[in-house]
Amino acid sequence: MVFAYDTEIALQAAVTLANTAEPPDSLETIEELDDFYTGLGYTGRWERSKAELDAVRRIRPRLRALLTAERDDAVDIVNEMLASAKALPQLVRHGEYDWHLHAVDDNQPLVTRISVETAMAMIDVIRTDEMSRLGVCADDDCEGIVLDLSRNRSRRFCSTTCGNRNAVAAYRARNR
Ligand SMILES: [Zn+2]
Ligand SMILES: [Zn+2]
Repeated sequence: MVFAYDTEIALQAAVTLANTAEPPDSLETIEELDDFYTGLGYTGRWERSKAELDAVRRIRPRLRALLTAERDDAVDIVNEMLASAKALPQLVRHGEYDWHLHAVDDNQPLVTRISVETAMAMIDVIRTDEMSRLGVCADDDCEGIVLDLSRNRSRRFCSTTCGNRNAVAAYRARNR
């Protein structure tokens, strides 16, 4: 494990969410937000409203900017996200999750909690100088964000779809 468990989960969630904005947009319905919420193990306030969906959709460019920023620029974004949400880190334990950090109340809007969780996770990434764990997909036609938590830093593609497409292309190139 490169980072603490909750940091890795939060980074994975932020990357997944930011990447839903890549065409074709895959976060257009409340059902798609349901899949994200349950799939990434969120807890707390969950409205299943159009307003909540729109707010979560609107934060995606901001997450992308943070996740792909230079280190010093990421600091500005993290500090702003934490200050605007009046974040107060508290250790909590719930459900199957052992002690981890929450920095805003569970009753805050989902978009606020996503923003603060991402900022908290990026604190670890910035402090350990591991921004290189984040990058953009090596596929020529894809701008998806890649989160590389592998030991040997071998991850180059945002998804298995992109990985497979390039493996097939490389195979064809070799056998031409
Ligand atoms: Zn939690
Ligand atoms: Zn990709």
